[in-house]
Amino acid sequence: GIVKGDVTILSQAVTLVESVKPEHQAVSQEIIEKCLPFSGNSIRIGISGVPGAGKSTSIDVFGLHVLEKGGKLAVLAIAPSSERSKGSILGDKTRMEQLSVHPKSFIRPSPSAGSLGGVARKTRETIILCEAAGFDKIFVETVGGLWVFLLFLLIQLSGTGDELQGIKRGIMEMADGIVINKADGDNLERAKLAATQFRNALHLFPAPESGWIPKVLTYSGFYNLGVKEIWDMIYEYIDFVKDNGYFEYRRNAQSKYWMYESINEQLRDSFYHNPKIEAMILEKEQQVLKGNLTSFVAARSLLDTYFEDLK
Ligand code: GDP
Repeated sequence: GIVKGDVTILSQAVTLVESVKPEHQAVSQEIIEKCLPFSGNSIRIGISGVPGAGKSTSIDVFGLHVLEKGGKLAVLAIAPSSERSKGSILGDKTRMEQLSVHPKSFIRPSPSAGSLGGVARKTRETIILCEAAGFDKIFVETVGGLWVFLLFLLIQLSGTGDELQGIKRGIMEMADGIVINKADGDNLERAKLAATQFRNALHLFPAPESGWIPKVLTYSGFYNLGVKEIWDMIYEYIDFVKDNGYFEYRRNAQSKYWMYESINEQLRDSFYHNPKIEAMILEKEQQVLKGNLTSFVAARSLLDTYFEDLK
């Protein structure tokens, strides 16, 4: 069903991937394995920005723009409940008004999309399923995650006068493109000024590994101004990294990362879910806290117990 592009089945599979129940995980791993040969052929773009920056509005117009060229687009959106005080999954659908009714788009609001850590794996697995279903462009609303994307777009706002404050340096360093939204009406000049400030600030960062110099552009998602220029930049980036070999390099580095990440995760799981370990770990923790055992001795004795149990 997934490979045939059936979105109902795709949705069900994503639900399995997101589930924490061990029996679901076993099935979802099998599905992912079978989908893997059909995956890997999309342009994966991570999109980040503070709430209110205009991510949904922008994804809506960006999406329509790329779909004009054909293909299919999947959007893994952050569920509003996890980002805003009120809102529902239903509300989220309407955040991307035009895409949500577009026949070639699949919007998946997901509480797990975006954040770092174990959920990054779920995001990656969901991407694999979407690719197998024939989605050749994938947008992920995210807070980071170099280990999944080809390109990372950071949506910024101007108009506060201290644009560069409050932006996590790490996020800015990851961006291949910084796009300043709401460059319309009274805000146009401020947006341009902000762009200049961002360009200057970028000079202070080390050159990115890709060799690509991140670009700063202004646009208006709401009025659909400057969106074509953003896509020109994205296509330019893709050509650039394909030409210089970084595209391949990053794909390989990501595969390698996920191999080790999977090993780490399964080792951790096996250790922490070992009944003998479960039975003694809190007591060891208490002994460490009381100063009766050093951290290293406690860790050693737990590991020894674990390895002994494996024999
Ligand atoms: P998100 O929280 O980042 O997803 O932001 P939204 O897309 O929900 O947008 C937040 C608010 O900004 C909404 O009221 C939008 O209508 C408004 N907005 C989004 N893009 C633009 C823009 O290009 N210009 C202007 N003036 N307002 C915008």
